[in-house]
Amino acid sequence: MDRIIFHWTGGAHTPSNLDKQHYHFIVDGAGNVHPGRYPVEANRKPVKGQYAAHTLNCNTGSIGVAVAAMAGAVERPFAAGSHPITPAQVDALVALSRDLGKQYGIPVTPQTMLSHAEVQPTLGIRQRGKWDIAWLPGMAKPGDPVAVGNKLRAMVAMPAAPQAPVSAPKPSAAPTPAKPATGPLAAFLRALVAIFKRSK
Ligand SMILES: [Zn+2]
Repeated sequence: MDRIIFHWTGGAHTPSNLDKQHYHFIVDGAGNVHPGRYPVEANRKPVKGQYAAHTLNCNTGSIGVAVAAMAGAVERPFAAGSHPITPAQVDALVALSRDLGKQYGIPVTPQTMLSHAEVQPTLGIRQRGKWDIAWLPGMAKPGDPVAVGNKLRAMVAMPAAPQAPVSAPKPSAAPTPAKPATGPLAAFLRALVAIFKRSK
């Protein structure tokens, strides 16, 4: 496989049967990943038979992953609609893409891991006014598709975030100052060091 393309379904937070025909994986509102009807391999070059049709003239070699969201969303003036993308969906989409990238040897680059909205500006393959995913939770309105794609790619490239913020070690956990070594082994080592020093 050559690339991963990020989408939103334009529906509610639960994948529909139609969504499952169009994407290889769909992330629901709670961040659970649902497999689509067609396996990733159905889109492998040369495509034979039925496959997941998710991106106009760019389905061959492309894995389609989607967040189930953005029903009734409007690009301009912006309205996120009844089912905006949730932060849990972003996290799950990022983790899924990271895993798929490793599994299929797809690097995290603007050409190989990109949103549907980036396909036209980056790959030069004309789409029909697609703006998924140019908006993420916390944004006031859609941004430049490539800038938003860069944000997603940076998250994919980062190792998984730790569960709790890393804090300084507690005083009790601090290493105790080293005492001068004692015992037969230490004496032996000192003797050995002395021999080496003398032999110089
Ligand atoms: Zn799309």
